[in-house]
Amino acid sequence: MQRQLSTDVLVIGGGTAGFGAALGAARQGARVRLIEGTSKIGGVMSFCPGMPWGGGYPTGRSIGGIFAELTDQLCAMQPPMAEVRPSTLENFGHEVIYDHEAAVFAMFQMLEDAGVDVHLNSFAGAPIMTDGRISGVTCTDRQGGMQIDAGMVIDCSGDGDISAKAGVPFMVGDGRGNMMGVTLSFSMLNAPWARVFAKGDPYFEEEAAAGIAAGQLHPDLAKLYLMRGFHRDTVFCNSVHIRGVDGTDPQQVARATQEGRRRCHQLARFLIENVPGFEQARMSELGPTVGVRETRKLEAVHRILAQDLRAGAKPVDGIVCCDNPIDDVMRGDAEMTHDAIVADDDYYAIPFRAMVPEKIRNLLFAGRLVCADPAAFASVRGMPQCMAMGQAAGIAAATALANRLAVQDLDPEDVVAALLKQGMHGIGGDDLRRHAPALLAR
Ligand SMILES: Cc1cc2nc3c(=O)[nH]c(=O)nc-3n(C[C@H](O)[C@H](O)[C@H](O)COP(=O)(O)OP(=O)(O)OC[C@H]3O[C@@H](n4cnc5c(N)ncnc54)[C@H](O)[C@@H]3O)c2cc1C
Repeated sequence: MQRQLSTDVLVIGGGTAGFGAALGAARQGARVRLIEGTSKIGGVMSFCPGMPWGGGYPTGRSIGGIFAELTDQLCAMQPPMAEVRPSTLENFGHEVIYDHEAAVFAMFQMLEDAGVDVHLNSFAGAPIMTDGRISGVTCTDRQGGMQIDAGMVIDCSGDGDISAKAGVPFMVGDGRGNMMGVTLSFSMLNAPWARVFAKGDPYFEEEAAAGIAAGQLHPDLAKLYLMRGFHRDTVFCNSVHIRGVDGTDPQQVARATQEGRRRCHQLARFLIENVPGFEQARMSELGPTVGVRETRKLEAVHRILAQDLRAGAKPVDGIVCCDNPIDDVMRGDAEMTHDAIVADDDYYAIPFRAMVPEKIRNLLFAGRLVCADPAAFASVRGMPQCMAMGQAAGIAAATALANRLAVQDLDPEDVVAALLKQGMHGIGGDDLRRHAPALLAR
């Protein structure tokens, strides 16, 4: 028999956006359930263990909020489990590198402390529509089916299956179906940094070209994207990208993951045999599945446009700051770009309206399914911004519920005010450029 559960706010997906959404709503006083299909919190962050949190420091200052809280917690541990450092890649600012397991543990603990009911290995299947609202969602876990009735639903699933089934229009990839490449990551242990990075080229282009010419590496590995991991002499390899995979199709994802494993093992062998410093190294933390960057982008009352971001737009409903480059990865047959989107001393803010659907009155969405054109999407999708989008959606959902409002009738400035109270920086007239450099660590 189907179980019946209820909650104020139902968050679908426990990636960085879902983590932020659940905490944002719970800290605003709502009862929250979080449904995550896999066995771990983190989403892409857990599928690519050790991937730095980029984009958290526009103009060198922290965006604040839950991202800063989590970073502070990890940095304050003894020994420290995170550090803030300048990225070695062009046009990326500072980033946080961390111990993956410590971060996942801390995130889960924050959810527990806030009283969030976390369901892992639980899959949201279909929305139940009543009078233009999602009154509940049917879900499944190993005990069978359950129906979760909810006052508000926040779709943080990355792919937006539930929103799409509820009738929210969407665009796939660039609108012609071209999605960014998916990636399988791994780390190399016991690779002394002083030798590995002696040449100073973060892309190892010379070595990669030789490997491709010798047939030892796939031609898409012209840039190797190797970077220092958090632990000494570990190297994080965010290199193996597979093109043309539809991340909403589980079979395509499974096939891409096996192809990714093949190329990762090949790359690890190549590094050991050909690149100084890797002679005694070994592979570790191969991702459990490819990380999917881009699938559906849901239609909202406002679409984020690259032209607004280039102008450094800071709308009154801006909920988080960002200066990430246009980080576009092998979309269709295109190559990678990391072109800067704003000047070094400027940033833009992501508007709340890009997370509000036109019609459904109790649905919000956050994270990589936000409403954006392809170039804007390539900039806004960093994990710190996903956490913050989630935090904003969580606050908004709890506020709308407490005031019996449709999400479309919320005053976004109330959401911004609550975010400032929850420690977000650089929004609501607060200019990041005015903050003391000390904010870097926060
Ligand atoms: C390879 C790769 C490299 C990247 N590099 C960086 C980087 O260096 N720095 C950076 O900041 N960002 C990086 N990004 C971007 C960033 O990781 C993502 O944009 C971000 O993590 C997306 O978070 P999300 O919560 O929106 O979605 P996801 O992380 O995709 O989380 C969605 C979650 O929802 C769950 N889910 C989906 N459907 C259901 C369902 N029906 N029921 C229950 N659960 C469901 C999934 O299991 C998943 O856990 C990278 C992304 C990729 C793929």
